[in-house]
Amino acid sequence: MKRLVCSTLALVASVFATAQDIQSKIQFEAPFKFPLFIAGNFGEPRPNHMHAGLDFKTQGVEGKELYCVADGYISRITIGLFGFGNALYVTHPNGYTSVYCHLQKFAPEIAKFVKKYCIQHELDMVDIKLGPREIRVKQGELIAYSGNTGASHGPHLHFELHNTATDELVDPLPYFKHLLQDTIPPHGNEIMFYPQRGEGVINGLTTKQRYKVKGGIRGVVRDTINAWGKIGVGIYGEDMMNKTFNHYGIYSIKLFVDGIQRFESHLDKFYPIEHRMVNSWGDYDVFRKSRIWFLKSFAAPGNSLQMLNLDKNRGVIDINEERIYKFKYILEDHYGNRGTVEFNVVGKKSPIPEYQVPNVRHFLHWNRTNVVQEPGMELAIPRGLLYDDAPLNVQTIVSPKGISNTYRLHDDVFPLNTWATIMIAVRNPLPVETRCYYVAMKTATGWRYMGGRYNSDNGWVSGRVRDLGATYTVQVDTIGPRFNPIAKKNWSRLGVVKYVISDKESGLQHYKCKIDGKFALFTNKRGVLTCHLEDVDIQRNIKHRLEFVATDNCGNKTVDVQEFVY
Ligand SMILES: [Zn+2]
Repeated sequence: MKRLVCSTLALVASVFATAQDIQSKIQFEAPFKFPLFIAGNFGEPRPNHMHAGLDFKTQGVEGKELYCVADGYISRITIGLFGFGNALYVTHPNGYTSVYCHLQKFAPEIAKFVKKYCIQHELDMVDIKLGPREIRVKQGELIAYSGNTGASHGPHLHFELHNTATDELVDPLPYFKHLLQDTIPPHGNEIMFYPQRGEGVINGLTTKQRYKVKGGIRGVVRDTINAWGKIGVGIYGEDMMNKTFNHYGIYSIKLFVDGIQRFESHLDKFYPIEHRMVNSWGDYDVFRKSRIWFLKSFAAPGNSLQMLNLDKNRGVIDINEERIYKFKYILEDHYGNRGTVEFNVVGKKSPIPEYQVPNVRHFLHWNRTNVVQEPGMELAIPRGLLYDDAPLNVQTIVSPKGISNTYRLHDDVFPLNTWATIMIAVRNPLPVETRCYYVAMKTATGWRYMGGRYNSDNGWVSGRVRDLGATYTVQVDTIGPRFNPIAKKNWSRLGVVKYVISDKESGLQHYKCKIDGKFALFTNKRGVLTCHLEDVDIQRNIKHRLEFVATDNCGNKTVDVQEFVY
């Protein structure tokens, strides 16, 4: 019996050792052979998302040889998805998947595979998922060339690490930090004070107030700040690294009040569904006006961002004694460089005005499903999409000849965590097929397609909304995509066919081109579609017939036919 216990313990101990070994054994090699610098770090706040990886600089140019960071297999190849341009996913046995984005092109073997796949499946945009046996890669193997494809403003490698099992986005920096240099501490620039609605005041006021930090990495706010009741604070700060001029998000922010930690954020990992919570953690309102992010050291009840460590008051500080409260921020990067910001808040009794619900049509509750109804419109917001309770104004604009009413949902920006459903009634039906109706959101340049499902039972069209501070209506699209062949006189000589295809109304949904009945593969570079004729399996030196078919989001189809010699 004794022996059995011993061996069980030994077994438990060995299981532990293995798990730890795996953690410490994870090693990634640099993706490039030149010195590494980053232009952006993990978790940096951006509008509607947080930066999900590291941006490695590529010496200002495209076409740098890119090497796989560890052994594994190519598990996904995407072209033109998520703004990633050309992207590769490599799954490693260590539990992580590395993702390489904005690539100029894939390594020859992978490029050949992709081209074959596209032609075989007659697809121009691809999202290829692969198993462990198809394309194996070794650490240090050339897998691609860096570039600037997709939503990229200048050549760089956007590099992500995903937890393969959970899909969590993970900060890659701990695995590459020995290859980078950082001796510069983060610092605070400004502090924002947030009186809690109906529960606190700052200097006798219910509005948020902003103070400059002086003194750099040993920062202080010298002004006298009086407060009473419940308040929150937020900080606008930044971090830098050696030999670059970039500004980075601060890895760790801790707030202490009278020596007790009340809040901590650590940019180490998050789930994709948490992306838009940055609109609640950060002060989105200030960001829109001045392009800087104050990050709050308290959290709205519906903000469940796992990168925040909160106490039972969710970071809200109760100033309920007439004394000095000592506030201290500690800002830290991955290298242990530390900056601080200190300031005092003076507790001073003052009246706290009761929160007056604005005179608007609706009030939304963060912890339930909200259904907002107006004549001819219904907005359904499932639970989990709001960060806090909020008033919602809806303005109905009736145009007697319009297809539907137009609805202004709230006067100010109001981001939701993910998509809600909006349904709008068609008031004046047009002599068109019902598939032509769609929900449209007003933008600076026109109307944007937001989905279009016509319900013939009630004559309503449903679409989706993620931003309530916007205007929605029903539009129709009966016009198919427009073709614009580019410099056709050069097609024969250069052996290259170029097109721009656009759809101003509901937007381009799909296209396919065939030359002499054979699939012709087009690559999309910033809206210009290009086909190299040598890749199409056609006879040479004869007249060819090209047939391009394109469909928009409402199902309108256009066909363009051209003849040329090649
Ligand atoms: Zn990036």
